[in-house]
Amino acid sequence: MKELYTSMDSSRIGFYKSVLDEAGIVCFIQNDVGAQTLNVISPLFQPTLCIVDDSRYDEAIELLKPHHYPETTSETAEWICTKCGEENPAGFEVCWSCEAEKTA
Ligand SMILES: [Zn+2]
Repeated sequence: MKELYTSMDSSRIGFYKSVLDEAGIVCFIQNDVGAQTLNVISPLFQPTLCIVDDSRYDEAIELLKPHHYPETTSETAEWICTKCGEENPAGFEVCWSCEAEKTA
């Protein structure tokens, strides 16, 4: 048995578990908040996702990586205004400086 991931966010832990379940990696959640009768949230009782088969630890990490570090490259790509040369965030459709339209 090996601990994979600990978080106060039990829904995230649950999601990770479902990812591993789907891949056929046997895992379980320790200290599941939902299973507790006391409402005291202690750092000692953070939900922890554990896998049973240590030899699949690396595989599990690889599976969770894309969820743990979502790709944001296309979201954060900046563009340079062709008119004034200012950098603009990806979400901007017109230049913040001179209001020229974004060009591909
Ligand atoms: Zn501009």
